[in-house]
Amino acid sequence: MSDQAFYSTLQQKLDTLKTEGLFKPERVLASRQGAEVVAQDGRTLINMCANNYLGLSGDPETQKAAAAALEKYGYGLSSVRFICGTQTVHKELEQKLSEFLGTEDTILYAAAFDANGGVFEPLFDENDAIISDALNHASIIDGIRLCKAARYRYANNDMADLENQLQAATEAGKRHKIIVTDGVFSMDGTIAQLDKIVELAEKYGALTMIDESHASGFMGKTGRGTHEHCGVIGKIDIITGTLGKALGGAMGGFTSGRKEVIETLRQKSRPYLFSNTLAPMIAGASLAVLDRISKSTELRDRLHENTAHFRKEIERIGFTIKPGTHPVVPVMLFDAPVAQKFAARMFELGVLLSGFFYPVVPMGQARVRVQLSAAHTREQLDKVLAAFEQAGRELGIIKNQ
Ligand SMILES: *Cc1c(COP(=O)(O)O)cnc(C)c1O
Repeated sequence: MSDQAFYSTLQQKLDTLKTEGLFKPERVLASRQGAEVVAQDGRTLINMCANNYLGLSGDPETQKAAAAALEKYGYGLSSVRFICGTQTVHKELEQKLSEFLGTEDTILYAAAFDANGGVFEPLFDENDAIISDALNHASIIDGIRLCKAARYRYANNDMADLENQLQAATEAGKRHKIIVTDGVFSMDGTIAQLDKIVELAEKYGALTMIDESHASGFMGKTGRGTHEHCGVIGKIDIITGTLGKALGGAMGGFTSGRKEVIETLRQKSRPYLFSNTLAPMIAGASLAVLDRISKSTELRDRLHENTAHFRKEIERIGFTIKPGTHPVVPVMLFDAPVAQKFAARMFELGVLLSGFFYPVVPMGQARVRVQLSAAHTREQLDKVLAAFEQAGRELGIIKNQ
């Protein structure tokens, strides 16, 4: 405690974040997660900013499955996986995820952040090339940093630039090349063009990896993910994803692919070797979630109906959105102070959403991001749309018709 300058510098930096409007306060809930939540002050809000796509966080069936696993397997393991931290429920979940994703094998992690952090370094070295979309998730960027492979970056979703980077890596004589992309980009709801990416991978003899955190459970006809949506099941080498969004919402991540890859990760992947096993109740609940969504596409179908309804109505009211089909709906307000004021007014009107502005999104692209859920009722969505219309008029974003 003898270096006071250290602490005062930190305080100055925190103050700067606040004056620049970049400080992130926590919004404290006094209830479980759901389509409606209770704020700390007791007010009920319609929640439009959770990654709770299938409505399974806070869902009684998910909770019952977790309670059953808690009862059977206990609270925790006090061990990493390979020493004495693997239970039958972990093996069952790994097998079930492989079946669901259409892969050979799967390895669990405590988070998708760990899955991405631990996937590159064991598999690639300085002779190899990682070709990464510019808007990939922070955990992919960090994972690549931990690895000695050469890094190539292509402009977001830009297939011509991807091909340029593949050519550059080929000309540099790189041994293995891997193209890495989010299956869905969470700021825009953009879906990666996996059909074209697979074609380019075949042309240049490259591997492919997708992060399915905003896709597993609801993208594609039966909810397997972006690879199903794009018709390339079985053609992606490595799939990472989270159990902390659509697939139950607690926490946990996975990497899935060929058995040689997964076996290597079990031997060499540092977040797996040096961090505790996923809690058995989460593994048990995730198994129940996968069972449920494998039997019926009801939740996935309801999510897409809600998404289509919201996208159509918000445009009819007069807002500009980024076009698409994903349940992430960026409602464009362009101006950062307007986006902040808008989100604050929506909060007063009983709607929880998040505003994004530079540097999280490009300058002049400020927005509020709406995330639909299967748990939203039509009545709730219509209330949200009415609040959008009211706040939009008050702030002069939409004109009186
Ligand atoms: C949320 C997210 C992660 C992190 O998932 P956790 O399981 O919460 O660590 C990783 N990648 C992408 C694309 C994400 O959206």
